[in-house]
Amino acid sequence: MRIEGVPASAGYAEGPLFELDRPAGVYASKASSAEETLSLEAAIGKAVSRLVAMVGTADSDAAGILEFHIAMLEDDALSRPAFASIASGKTADAAWRQALDAEIAGYDASDQDYFRARAADLRDIRDQVLRALTEDGDSTAPAGAILCGEDIAPTRFLETDWSHGGGIALKAGSTASHVAMLARSRGVPMVVGLREPLTAGAGMALLDAEHGTIVLAPSPTEIGSFRQASSSFAARQGKAQTFLARPAATKRGTAVRVQVNIADPRDVDAIDIATCDGVGLMRTEFLFGKTLPDEETQYRAYRKVLEWAGEKPVTIRTVDAGGDKPVPGFTVEEGNPFLGLRGIRLSLARLDIFRVQIRALLRAAPHGNLKVMFPMIATSEEYERAAALFAEERAALAARGVAHKMPPLGIMVEVPSVAIAPEAFAGVAFFSIGSNDLTQYVMAAARDNAAVAHLNSVRHPAVLRLIGAVAAFGQENGIPVSLCGDAGGDPASIPSLLEAGLRDLSVAPAQLAMAKAAIADVPV
Ligand code: PEP
Ligand code: MG
Repeated sequence: MRIEGVPASAGYAEGPLFELDRPAGVYASKASSAEETLSLEAAIGKAVSRLVAMVGTADSDAAGILEFHIAMLEDDALSRPAFASIASGKTADAAWRQALDAEIAGYDASDQDYFRARAADLRDIRDQVLRALTEDGDSTAPAGAILCGEDIAPTRFLETDWSHGGGIALKAGSTASHVAMLARSRGVPMVVGLREPLTAGAGMALLDAEHGTIVLAPSPTEIGSFRQASSSFAARQGKAQTFLARPAATKRGTAVRVQVNIADPRDVDAIDIATCDGVGLMRTEFLFGKTLPDEETQYRAYRKVLEWAGEKPVTIRTVDAGGDKPVPGFTVEEGNPFLGLRGIRLSLARLDIFRVQIRALLRAAPHGNLKVMFPMIATSEEYERAAALFAEERAALAARGVAHKMPPLGIMVEVPSVAIAPEAFAGVAFFSIGSNDLTQYVMAAARDNAAVAHLNSVRHPAVLRLIGAVAAFGQENGIPVSLCGDAGGDPASIPSLLEAGLRDLSVAPAQLAMAKAAIADVPV
């Protein structure tokens, strides 16, 4: 039996199915409310220490998620209702479950994708404490298993030993979720949005996360062709590593620049600058994650990346908060956030915050080859206002005798109005195509919704035609055009992007080798 889904992290896995949602062990109730209280306190403490231990070995993305879980568990507001129920006679497990389920229901009912996605984090927190209360039960998957269920918690992903293979197959899930991001960076095969539920009784399964399918109880022929596809994937990956150290070029020798996308300044620690052409996109929303960063914090973050890159360019994007990236104390609640006050619109509405970032960028600029770009530009007035703010802050720094430099200013091309009528922007220093947003706005298909993922393709002729038109406009007018959306690192989309005229891509660091290998196969 074959079930179709959406690939979230490419790769192949063959193994037994392991149900993620199996019931936890049984809680042994205590003699008094006081003991129940102690039992819950101890379980929360145990869950926190496990998370703290995991932070120690996690990379920066994973650490961010784990720290968020720790902060939630340490927040009294979350546990207060549970302790109140214990005082009125409930057992610790029932009280905790009831309190968390009520909280989860609130998140599930939100009309904002971001908050609905955080319900998965809360379920994770709930289950970690329940597990600690029931002394863990047997919830460890066998080595090489394919974890299946509705959704998977980030900590569950991080606790799993992936060194013997294995994969993830989900009924719900989204390619933009935290876990999908982790799976791509660790190379764990993952498929989301399966059209039918899986039952673990089915025995052995074949997960093809390159094309997005899972086969249950496979026939010998199915096993044969699966293994062939899997070894061809492994061979392509192995071969790709040999491309990493060389500059990228097509079959005919046309040079293509390949830069990397980063978020946290610590991301660069794991990248050899010799393997890429610089940073094509540094997303600064990460710095705005929990609290609004001050000028000094931002200056240090930008300077670190600029010094790492040396003479190679580093394109830093001003904060793109809003949409699916809310920032407490900055973004506003909206009914339709992808079409609301996000990106440059929000920065221009909150000059107190925007000016701090502009000053940090101007001060960091002398430390490397900085370029700055604005996200979600829809009209030339927005660009002109943002550029005028840079000029004002530059003059203010000069008047105070503070070292600074004016970087070239460019824009993201991710709103259809810009891609359709780029002539309004002939004065900008460069264009960077944001294919994630451009595709979702052209196709009217939210980028974080698995139900419409089939529509969300950069290879739709309408999207490619716009990309081609922007590349041609740039060429005619001497404006450099690059692309920094996820499509740039997707071997299946790279031929179409190069055929559309692009010669400059920026990709996730984990995709660098495969992207360069895919470029070498394109006959342009
Ligand atoms: C994009 O939209 O393609 C892009 C690179 O920006 P983000 O994914 O951060 O919105
Ligand atoms: Mg975008």
